[in-house]
Amino acid sequence: MKIMAVNAGSSSLKFQLLEMPSEDVIASGLVERIGYYNAVFTLKMNGEKVSITQEILNHKEAVHLVTKGLIDHKIISSLDDIVGVGHRVVQGGEIFKNSAVINDKVIEQIKSLSDLAPLHNPANITGIEAFRKDLPDVPQIAVFDTTFHQTMTEDAFLYAAPYEWYQQYGVRKYGFHGTSHQFVSERAAVLLDNKKAKIIICHLGNGASLCAVDSGKSVDTSMGLTPLEGIPMGTRSGNIDPTVLMLISDKENKSYAEVLDDLNKRSGFLGVSGISNDSRDILREMENGNHRARLAHEIQVKRIADYIGSYYVYMGGLDAIIFTAGIGENESRVREAILNAVKVLGIEIDQEENQKRGERMITTKNSKVKAFIIPTNEEVMIAREVMRLK
Ligand code: AMP
Repeated sequence: MKIMAVNAGSSSLKFQLLEMPSEDVIASGLVERIGYYNAVFTLKMNGEKVSITQEILNHKEAVHLVTKGLIDHKIISSLDDIVGVGHRVVQGGEIFKNSAVINDKVIEQIKSLSDLAPLHNPANITGIEAFRKDLPDVPQIAVFDTTFHQTMTEDAFLYAAPYEWYQQYGVRKYGFHGTSHQFVSERAAVLLDNKKAKIIICHLGNGASLCAVDSGKSVDTSMGLTPLEGIPMGTRSGNIDPTVLMLISDKENKSYAEVLDDLNKRSGFLGVSGISNDSRDILREMENGNHRARLAHEIQVKRIADYIGSYYVYMGGLDAIIFTAGIGENESRVREAILNAVKVLGIEIDQEENQKRGERMITTKNSKVKAFIIPTNEEVMIAREVMRLK
């Protein structure tokens, strides 16, 4: 049974076609620069990669090209082979406490949340509508980045700001990367053989967030109303005193929106180091003696350790710390620095295991708190949700 997992951005469309329930990837691909004359469609299947550049004016054309590509390359014999499509949707607000089977009402509800995710939800809708046109009889499921965190209680998700802001405008912490945190926490429960485990997931990619999971439920997470809150990331500052907005706006004669753009796109690794948003460049330059590269790394590690400490106290204990996403899965030096920073919790790194890649425990048997690498897989999580709801 073939299920499509889709992630639509404002000018891009990423997808994976999965065989379910075996969860094997049959094909994957990406359409970039949608809306331009030189859009690029890349399709990967059977270890082969084909790429074409042509005009693709909108998402409808992109979807059409994808489905045609799958048929032309004999990955599917007809559109009837696809029995469900799962769409990543960034903001589900308080409306969606679960993934949802898409109908006209659900589309209106997702649109109604666009104030909270102006860059993402409208783009996600464009993808949904394009697939609904091409595959009108196939169930489409919306899987939200925020759903997993809907189990947080008020003390964790409310800001200490005027309560009316929450009541009238929905100003609260929603959290993101929920699909990844859910996938990883389910796997961690299996590896620990403990459904009631207390774990902290460090999803460290270009975007990065931490999640405290108690008995399979998210009880706190570092991202907030938007993905800007929390730990420093590739280009995002993470937590910062909001007064900075006013000060920089005055000094540099910028609008608040422009300063926010600086905090989202020109801060974090990139802003502190002045070199790059990519952890590989940061670590290389740090080892070459670059002070600002070292700072970019050290500030991130400190802030992550701060969160781990607070989640440990909030949950009243900790069984395991899990590393996932680009940096979490690949950068042994970052994992080591973080684990050393929270060593007081009773952590003993297995240096040899920490140098390796792929799913594994990276602490010794005697370590009181364990640590693991668990590669994330948001597409599989989306496909599982489609299987559950279609
Ligand atoms: P993501 O957003 O999950 O794709 O992660 C992007 C981040 O992960 C970047 O900072 C990369 O430097 C880092 N990253 C991705 N792949 C690797 C790799 N193979 N080795 C080291 N770091 C990587």
